[in-house]
Amino acid sequence: MSCGLCAFPSTWGSELPQDIPVTFRDCGMVNAFWDTDAKALTLCYEFIQIYNTGYEEVMGEESVFLAGADRDMVLTGTTLFIMMHELGHGFIDRFALPVTGREEDAVDQFAALMLIDADEKGTPVLEPHLSG
Ligand SMILES: [Zn+2]
Repeated sequence: MSCGLCAFPSTWGSELPQDIPVTFRDCGMVNAFWDTDAKALTLCYEFIQIYNTGYEEVMGEESVFLAGADRDMVLTGTTLFIMMHELGHGFIDRFALPVTGREEDAVDQFAALMLIDADEKGTPVLEPHLSG
C-alpha cells in the first residue's frame, strides 16, 4: 500500500501524552472497536474485508462514484475512516474529552476532519506515527 495510512497532523505524535495501540487482527466477527479497559484500538480483518469485497454492490448515488473508483483507494479510505472514527472514541475515553451531542456524530466529524486532506498526494497521515 502506498501512502494509504497517511493523514495525521505530523505534530500529533509528539503531543499525545500516551501512545494509542492499534491492532489489526482476526476477531471472528465483523467489528472495529475501542477497548476502554485495554485503552487500545482494534480493527478486525473481517470488517475490512467487508469493504474490500462488498462495495461493488452499493446502490444509489455512491454506486456511480464507486464504479469508477480504484479498489485500493476505496479500501484504504474506508479503513482509515473507520480507524479515525474508533480513534475518536479512544481520544474521548483516554483523555476525558467533553462531547456535545451524540458521541457517534462527534467521532464521525473527527474522522472526516482528520481525513479531509488525506487525498493530497505525498501527504503522510499515519506513517510517521506507526511503530512495531
Ligand atoms: Zn462509533
